[in-house]
Amino acid sequence: MTVGAATRSDLVHLAELARGARSVVALTGAGISVPSGIPDFRTPGSGLWGRVDPMQVAHIDAFRSDPARFWGFYAERFAALEHKLPNGAHRALVAMEQAGMLDAVITQNVDMLHRKAGTGELVEVHGSIATCSCPSCGERTALEAVRVRLAAEPDGVPRCGRCSAPLKPDVVLFGEMLPVEAIERAQALCQGAELLLCIGSSLEVQPVAGLPLLTLRAGGRVAIITQGPTPLDELASVRLRGDVVAELEALLAALAA
Ligand code: ZN
Repeated sequence: MTVGAATRSDLVHLAELARGARSVVALTGAGISVPSGIPDFRTPGSGLWGRVDPMQVAHIDAFRSDPARFWGFYAERFAALEHKLPNGAHRALVAMEQAGMLDAVITQNVDMLHRKAGTGELVEVHGSIATCSCPSCGERTALEAVRVRLAAEPDGVPRCGRCSAPLKPDVVLFGEMLPVEAIERAQALCQGAELLLCIGSSLEVQPVAGLPLLTLRAGGRVAIITQGPTPLDELASVRLRGDVVAELEALLAALAA
């Protein structure tokens, strides 16, 4: 996608805001991973979520009542994410962080792509697929070992190496609370941010949707870089609607100029 003249003046404005801000923080959602081939489950008919009701199959009650059915679905999700690579948008945020122009990335994504890209200060408010935990004894198991057990178990349920209970992915399932430590860290970052870059998030899922309001109430500014509409569009100082990779690469270029 080409960056039009109107967008370019917005980019210059955004770069000025970023340069002038003492603290810049990014908040990312599913849209940043779409160019890596991970569909946003809110897009109708896309990927795994198009064939199942995520509220039903990826619900904590489904895990508790029927771990084999839960893992039948979740193993497919793991496999779908296994070989995905970060894209230019993830890399642009790493470049900004390394240049001292970005304090942290807060993400709703569980796909590990910010980690793979090399983001240092990362808050994964919905957890990630990097590990699974045992709900009974708390033993934590890394993704590689989970994959081995998934393949080896006849019922397809990876089990705890210590007590044999079914493992649960360390992602926030439907019906579960967000990890307190992560959400508190995200709130503190957003309160302290003079500029919050909201990237690829529809800003509709609470409590993450409330984070930009913390920045605004503390006197900071919010920029929204996502293709679809968000409930906070009117409150944004800058609103970019182009392809997320093109927009962030253009921002990085504007910051370097
Ligand atoms: Zn255990």
